[in-house]
Amino acid sequence: MSDKRILKTTVDQIVTYWATKVDKSTLSIDFSEAHERCWHCGYKTKLERCHIVPHSLGRQDAPENLVLLCRLCHAEGPNISDPDFFWDWL
Ligand SMILES: [Zn+2]
Repeated sequence: MSDKRILKTTVDQIVTYWATKVDKSTLSIDFSEAHERCWHCGYKTKLERCHIVPHSLGRQDAPENLVLLCRLCHAEGPNISDPDFFWDWL
């Protein structure tokens, strides 16, 4: 019997992925705190994994399509299919 469950991308995987790719000057946080501060408002709280392009538009649960936001920003975030617009918002 094989285990065919698809594992969710972890917070650590998201931080590690973006550490080498994101333009840190566009973020409101120091990237060393990326695992514990909201990438939009900088609030130190429990973070949620937020899809850049919503799952409903066909994007996968993978680090390149995920960032970390607090509950409020996750609810406020744009629900769009354009990653550039998302990074502008962030
Ligand atoms: Zn926030």
